[in-house]
Amino acid sequence: MKKYVYFFGAGAAEGNKDMKDILGGKGANLAEMAGIGLPVPPGFTVSAEVCALFYKNKERLPEAVRHEIEKSLGRLERATGQVFGDAKNPLLVSVRSGARASMPGMMDTILNLGLNEKTVAALIAKTGNARFVYDSYRRFVQMYGDVVLGLKPANKDDIDPFEAIIEDKKHELGVKSDLDLAAGDLKELVSRFKAAIKEKTGYNFPEDPRRQLWGAMEAVFGAWKNDRAIAYRKMYDIPESWGTAVNVQLMVFGNMGNDSGTGVAFTRDAATGEKTFYGEYLMNAQGEDVVAGIRTPLPIAHLKKDNKKVYAELERIRHTLEEHFRDMMDIEFTIQQGKLYMLQCRVGKRTAFAAIKIAVDMVSEKLISEKEALARIEPDQLNQLLRPVFDQAEKDAAIKGGRLLAKGLNAGPGAATGRIVFNSVDAEAWAERGEKVILTRIETSPEDIRGMNAAEGILTARGGMTSHAALVARQMGRVCVAGCSELVIDYGQHVLTVKNRTLRQGDWVSLDGTTGQVIEGKINTKPSEVLQVLIEKTLDRAKAPVYLTFAKIMDWADKFRTLKIRTNADQPDQAANAVAFGAEGIGLCRTEHMFFGQGKIGPMREMILADTLEQRKTALAKLLPLQRQDFAGIFEVMAGRPVTIRTIDPPLHEFLPHEEKEQRELAAEMGLAYENVRERVESLHEFNPMLGFRGCRLGIIYPEITEMQARAIFEAAAAAKKKGIEVEPEVMIPLVGHVKELVDQERLVRRTAEAVMKEQGVTFKYHVGTMIEVPRGAITADEIATVAEFFSFGTNDLTQTTLGVSRDDAGRFLRSYVEKEIYAKDPFEVLDRDGVGQLMRMAVEKGRRARPGLKLGICGEHGGDPSSIQFCHLIGLNYASCSPFRVPIARLAAARAALLNAPAKLGGKAVSARVEAKRPVKKSGAPKKARRAEAKNPARKR
Ligand code: ADP
Ligand code: MG
Ligand code: MG
Repeated sequence: MKKYVYFFGAGAAEGNKDMKDILGGKGANLAEMAGIGLPVPPGFTVSAEVCALFYKNKERLPEAVRHEIEKSLGRLERATGQVFGDAKNPLLVSVRSGARASMPGMMDTILNLGLNEKTVAALIAKTGNARFVYDSYRRFVQMYGDVVLGLKPANKDDIDPFEAIIEDKKHELGVKSDLDLAAGDLKELVSRFKAAIKEKTGYNFPEDPRRQLWGAMEAVFGAWKNDRAIAYRKMYDIPESWGTAVNVQLMVFGNMGNDSGTGVAFTRDAATGEKTFYGEYLMNAQGEDVVAGIRTPLPIAHLKKDNKKVYAELERIRHTLEEHFRDMMDIEFTIQQGKLYMLQCRVGKRTAFAAIKIAVDMVSEKLISEKEALARIEPDQLNQLLRPVFDQAEKDAAIKGGRLLAKGLNAGPGAATGRIVFNSVDAEAWAERGEKVILTRIETSPEDIRGMNAAEGILTARGGMTSHAALVARQMGRVCVAGCSELVIDYGQHVLTVKNRTLRQGDWVSLDGTTGQVIEGKINTKPSEVLQVLIEKTLDRAKAPVYLTFAKIMDWADKFRTLKIRTNADQPDQAANAVAFGAEGIGLCRTEHMFFGQGKIGPMREMILADTLEQRKTALAKLLPLQRQDFAGIFEVMAGRPVTIRTIDPPLHEFLPHEEKEQRELAAEMGLAYENVRERVESLHEFNPMLGFRGCRLGIIYPEITEMQARAIFEAAAAAKKKGIEVEPEVMIPLVGHVKELVDQERLVRRTAEAVMKEQGVTFKYHVGTMIEVPRGAITADEIATVAEFFSFGTNDLTQTTLGVSRDDAGRFLRSYVEKEIYAKDPFEVLDRDGVGQLMRMAVEKGRRARPGLKLGICGEHGGDPSSIQFCHLIGLNYASCSPFRVPIARLAAARAALLNAPAKLGGKAVSARVEAKRPVKKSGAPKKARRAEAKNPARKR
C-alpha cells in the first residue's frame, strides 16, 4: 500500500531532507532536524501527493488517507502522552502547509487546534494559566475563522473582522497592547469571535477537534489553488502539479509567559552575507507575531540577556545546521518556559550580494566546494550586482539639505528612486505606463507581490528584517527599507506623514536599501561597485569588496565552463564593456547599425535611391571609409579576439523615411524629385518584411554592397595587422537557406579578401560562415557546411520562422499562450528546445559530420538566457554570444551547465566544446564614457 503519512519526532523520522517532493520543504526539513536530534516537537506530514487526490476526490480527503492520518494521530498521542480532544490532558496541534518550493506566506497556518470549551477547561486546570489558555483559544478561533471559514477580507485595505473586535475591546478597556488583555478579556473575545462567525457564516464554530482537524487540512489543500498561490506560482514558475504537503505538529507555546517566546533567524546576514547571527524574537508571543509587525521584535543578540542558556543553545543549533546543511539557513523557533524548540528550517533567501559572499566564504571555510558555490548562485541574480547606487555627493547634499525623512531597516540593498504609491494595484498600473514607483505600505502581505515586483523599491512602516516585505524584496532583488516606524501612512487619503512633513501619492522619494535611509525627493543614481571597477574604471578593485567577491565567482565560472562567451556588439565602446565583463570575442557585429551613425545615413540613402550601378557604386564608395573606420575601432578593442561580422541584413526601406515631409527633405538634399523618392519607398514596400527582401538576398541582388562591406572589413584587418594587432575576421552571411546563396556570397567575400591582401601587401586569416536562422538552413546544414566554416544560430529569426510567429505581432497572443501553458515560456526569451532546439541539434550534427572542425555558436537573444545557454552547452556549441551586460550571467550559466551536464555525444563520438583555441587576451583601454543604457536596468525581467 502506498504511504501517504510520514511521522517525525524525538530523534527519529520517517522522512528526510531529500524528500521535498513528497513532504514539501517544511516537512522534509522538520524530519531532517528531528533525525539529527534537534528539539523538534513531534508530528507527521501528509504527503503532497495527497493534494492531487484531494482535488480528484471533489476537494475531500480520501477515506484511505483519513485512515492513515488517524493512525498517525494515535502515534502522536502515544509519543506525547496526550489525547486529542481529551478532557484531562488534551493534545493540541498546529496544521501547517508546505510545498516543495518555499512560498513564503502563501498558505496559512492554524495554531492551537484541538481547543474547545472542554479542552480549554482541561488546559487551565493543567497549566493554572488561564490567560495563556484564552490567548491561545482566541488565536485559534481567529485563525480558523480567517483561513478555514473564509472570514479573512479579500481586500488588503479592509480590516480583519477579528482584528476589529480586538481593537474595539482594547478601546473599551483603554489599553494599547494585546499583552494588556487579561484572561477574562480574552475569553470574551472568543465568544465575540464565535458570534461573528455565526453571523457571517450561519454556522457554529466547530467544537469537535476531529472536525476542526479535517477542516483545517482541507483548507490547506484547498488554498493550493487560491488566487494568491496561483499568482505566486506563475511568478516563480512553480508547477501546479507539485501540490502542497500538510504538517500536523504538536503545539509548543511561546505565549506561556515571560519565560516563553518565539523568533526567526538567519544563520548569516541575508542582506550582506556577513557571518553574523541575524534574527528577531519576541517574548510571550506566538507564531507569526514576530513577522506580522504588530509588536516590534528584539534583535537576536538581545536574547543573550533575556535567557543566556537558550541563546547559547540557539547558537549551537545555528552551527549544527550550517555544518549539516552546508548553507545559510532560515530558522523558526519557539521557547516554551525556557525550553527551546525548532519549528522550521530552510535554506535562507538572500540578496545577490549575500549569495556571492556566502558562497565564497563557505568555500574558504571548507563547507562547500567551488563547484557547489557556483551551483548556488542563480545567474540572473548577478544583475543585482550591476544595479545602480546613489550618487554619493548628491545624496550627501540631500541629507545636508534636511531631506532625510527617516531611517528604517536596510532590508534590500541598492538604490531606488521613484514616486510614492500606496497600493499594489497602483504600483502595477503606474509601472505599466513607465513610471518608477516606490510601493509604500504599512506592511506588506502576499497580496502585494505583484505590486512589489513592479516597484523600484519597497518602503514599509512596520515589520522587521524577516517581515514579508523584507523576505520577498530580497528574493526579488528589490530595494527595500522596512519597519520605518516614524512613517504614518494613511491609505484613505493617500498621504504619508513623517516628522512634520507630508508626502502625497506621486511625490518622489529615494530609498537607500543598503543603509535604510529614506530621503525626500529624487536622487540620481550611479553605477554599482562592479561597474565602477570594470566599466567606469573609477574605483580601485582593492577597495571594492563586492567586486572582489564577484571576481572570484567569475574566476571559478571560467575554470569550469567549456562554452565560450562572446558578445553582440556593434561599436567599440560596447565591445570594450563586454571585454571588461569577460567576453572572449564578438559573436555578432551588425554592420547595418553602423549605417545609422552620424554622417552615414546620407550615403546609405543615396545608395538605395541610386538608379544605376554606377550611382550605387559612387554612394558605396562614400560608405567604405566610414565602415572601415568602424571595423578598425572594433579590431583594436578586441585585440586579437575573434570578431564575427554579419553583412547587411535588414530590408532597405528601413533606411528610408516614410513621412512625406521627410521624403521631401531627402529629395531636396539628394537633388531628386520628391516623386522619385516616394516611388522608390513605395516600390520597396513589403507586406511581410520579415520574410522579404533582406539578409543575403540583398547581397545577392546587389553584390556591390557585400563587396563594399567585405572590403571595409578586410582593409581594416590589413591596417590592424600592420599595426601589430592580431585579427582574424569572421564574415557571416545572414539568412541563408540554400547552399547556393552562401556560395554566391562566399565567392565574393573571398575574392575581395584576396584582392585586399594583394593591394595591401599583408596576409591575414579570415573565415566565411553563415547564420542558421531559417529552417531550410538547418535542414540542409550538411550541404551548407561544405562551404561555411562556421555556423551561428540566429535564434530570433529561427524561432520566428520555425514557429511561424512574427515576434513583432506576437504580443496579442503569446502572453496568453504562456498563461495557458501552450508554451511553458516565451519562446523568444527561453529557447524552445523541442522545436527550434531540435533544428539546432540537427544542424549541429549534420554540420559537424560534413565539416568536423565546424565552429558553432548562438547569437540570438537566447545567448544571454541561462536555460538556453544550458541547451547550447548540451548540444555542443562552441560559444554563446549575448549583450555586453549579460556576459557575467552567461559565464556563470555556462559553468553551471558544464557542472550539471557533460557535453552531449553526437554522431557517435563525443564532441568537444573546447575546439576554439584560446587566444591571447590583452588588456584593452575601454573608453570611459561607456554606453550605459542597459546598466540602468540591466536586463531586468518582469
Ligand atoms: P509559514 O509557512 O508561513 O512560515 P508556518 O507553518 O511556519 O508558516 O507557521 C507559522 C508560525 O507558526 C511559525 O513561525 C511558528 O512560529 C508557528 N508554529 C507552527 N507550528 C507550531 C507548533 N507546532 N508550535 C508552536 N508554534 C508553531
Ligand atoms: Mg514558517
Ligand atoms: Mg536574423
